[in-house]
Amino acid sequence: MKYPETLNNLIDCFKHLPGIGEKTAERLALSLLDADDSMINLFSTSLANVKQKVKRCSKCHSYSEKELCEICENEDRNKNIICVVETPKDVVSLEKIGSYKGLYHVLDGLISPMTGKNPEDLNINSLLDRVKKENIKEIIFVLTPNIEGETTSLYITKKINNDNIIISKIAHGVPLGANMDYVDSLTLEMALENRTRISNS
Ligand SMILES: [Zn+2]
Repeated sequence: MKYPETLNNLIDCFKHLPGIGEKTAERLALSLLDADDSMINLFSTSLANVKQKVKRCSKCHSYSEKELCEICENEDRNKNIICVVETPKDVVSLEKIGSYKGLYHVLDGLISPMTGKNPEDLNINSLLDRVKKENIKEIIFVLTPNIEGETTSLYITKKINNDNIIISKIAHGVPLGANMDYVDSLTLEMALENRTRISNS
């Protein structure tokens, strides 16, 4: 016997998600059949809303439901320092640590000639704009420590070309080639504290 069509459709939906195989998709779909109505309502509303409501902050490109994200809007944050990261997920990871009180800028990737990602494909111009218009005194790169990460931080450092701005990157504790997804929060916190200055002249 096969599952009814509606159930099969749900299983197929789960299979489209990253890291979900046939068996897991089946288990998740069946678990929803047993879930109570309030859970199903929350699940379906969240699903319907996520793409529609979650936008990017117009300033730092992090996730936000408003024009500006809660970090850019927060008057208590240090507005003189920007932490440059690859994805909105990195912002959430760093916020979980809780020790960083400055602003962020999400590049949406790294410069990579191998995959055809050029500087103009990233949020670099908007970062340079912020450096010019806002009172920025320090930039910290928290990028994946591989050749693409290095290329990206050096490119931006050259473009900023301002000796009055301290430019640093996290260095210690993060293994070469480590994806930021897999670096635990303690390692990241230590790396942030022990950041090294990049020469900017
Ligand atoms: Zn923002």
